[in-house]
Amino acid sequence: AALPREEALAEVRRVAREVFGYEQLREGQEEAMAALLAGHDVLLVMPTGGGKSAVYQVPAVLMQGPTLVVSPLIALQQDQVEGLREHGAETEAYAVSSATSARERREAWEAVRQGDAEFLFLAPEQLANPEVLERVRALRPSLVAVDEAHAVSSWGHDFRPDYLRLGEFIDALGRPRVIALTATAAPQVRDDIVEHLRMRDPEVVVKGFARTNIDLQVVRLRSDAEKRDEVLLRTAAEAKPLILYTATRRDTEEYAEAVAELGLRAAAYHGGMRAGDREEVQQRFMAGELDVIVATNAFGMGIDKADIRTVVHATVPDSPDSYYQEVGRAGRDGEPSSAVLFYRPEDLGLRRFFTTSAPDEEQVEQVARAIERTGADPSDRDDRAELRERTGLGPRKLGRIVNLLEDVEDDRRGDPHAAAERAVELAEAQRTMERSRLEMMRGYAETTGCRRQFMLSYFGEELPEPCGHCDTCRAGTAEEVPDVADAPFALQERVRHEQFGEGVVMGYEGDPDRVTVLFDESGYRTLALEAVRRSDLLEPAD
Ligand code: ADP
Ligand code: ZN
Repeated sequence: AALPREEALAEVRRVAREVFGYEQLREGQEEAMAALLAGHDVLLVMPTGGGKSAVYQVPAVLMQGPTLVVSPLIALQQDQVEGLREHGAETEAYAVSSATSARERREAWEAVRQGDAEFLFLAPEQLANPEVLERVRALRPSLVAVDEAHAVSSWGHDFRPDYLRLGEFIDALGRPRVIALTATAAPQVRDDIVEHLRMRDPEVVVKGFARTNIDLQVVRLRSDAEKRDEVLLRTAAEAKPLILYTATRRDTEEYAEAVAELGLRAAAYHGGMRAGDREEVQQRFMAGELDVIVATNAFGMGIDKADIRTVVHATVPDSPDSYYQEVGRAGRDGEPSSAVLFYRPEDLGLRRFFTTSAPDEEQVEQVARAIERTGADPSDRDDRAELRERTGLGPRKLGRIVNLLEDVEDDRRGDPHAAAERAVELAEAQRTMERSRLEMMRGYAETTGCRRQFMLSYFGEELPEPCGHCDTCRAGTAEEVPDVADAPFALQERVRHEQFGEGVVMGYEGDPDRVTVLFDESGYRTLALEAVRRSDLLEPAD
């Protein structure tokens, strides 16, 4: 049953305090919890460490019936289960996964069946087992929390086909309320989550990305030659501890050596190092024995060091999602911190789009037919080898095609031609998306407007005023609107363009008649940044 909002809030605060020991709820937490208790499905977008788990855990205690938590990371499930148990009987939790023993699983099912469990953690593939699904249904869960929900989306950075059927499973459970949790905010990902989980009239809550204690700066490089020295100078000058992100493994080692020569305690970290070495570097950094860690983007998952003062990127990353996530590792303690991005347009990798193309439809259809005919399971290694032999395709290309087919499989089963058509369409759309992410990074680096407002527009969180804590704000360009006779559009104002549809004004780069606009949908559900003539812009149709 749904609670009126005011009552729900009071209850939420009480449980947060009494059961979980949270004296105060954070921005966004309360709102999302109240929406859930008011009977809505909720999509919650918050950065890592923002406190997403509490948002389903607190209402779960208040709702009748157990809560099913779907989470792909088995290792983390155990941590969560133990964490919940610490709060007492009201938050008793169990996990059932391939990592638990048969006996543990039996005990868990017995406990949940007897009504002793408030939380049941499952990996998504477990639900594909009809027996498991039936057991869960019999528990009549009142809430399903889908953790890492971006995994339903092929736009996301770690798409899992297992997640695609969750909507169907949730239907089979009789449609309990659903809360989807993610730190990935790209609008396409959000749409996919709502669609695939079949969420009904969901409330979307996006909070916690502002992080105004982190000062945002961009350094524009004129040439590749000056990059190394500029990066080193800056790395030496900024507050420590500092993470220096570089594009390649080799760069991490070269920079680490150069930083060490400046007399700083530095070490490299990348995915190609032995696990033991990596662990040791990470430990030293955590323990404060390093001033600088020079890393590829392999570094950071699960890093919870509160006092990182600076994050420097020697090269522009390929999406605002990953850039902002990496930046967000600074200043977790709330103290002043900074993020410095070294930018050269040539580093954006836009060239790729003129030299690569989507896979050829005939090839895709050939693979689809081969799978159809042989009943091969592409996730099986032997089957995959056979597919390779039959189609004559290389492993990379085949892998790419198989992934695309898996993604469209649901609606095109048994029709290789339609599947191939759809798969190529999807590949094209993904390319467009990838390109628009790069365009967003270019826009972020080149905007004359407030950088934080720019980022947050992308994430869908509103920041009404320029932040005052970025280089453009300090330079006074953030609010600068060119001086022209007829009223120009203000920064962040919504506008409409005949061809590109609706969007938000992001900046005036030098030329008062050229306006950079972030368009919501141009072509296939994609954000696009375009410089257009001011005279082509209109007020939005309400
Ligand atoms: P996320 O899932 O968003 O990455 P978590 O749910 O793991 O984040 O929360 C991060 C940390 O913040 C946890 O240690 C959690 O206990 C703590 N936390 C969450 N909400 C609050 C709150 N309202 N007050 C204090 N601590 C909180
Ligand atoms: Zn700003």
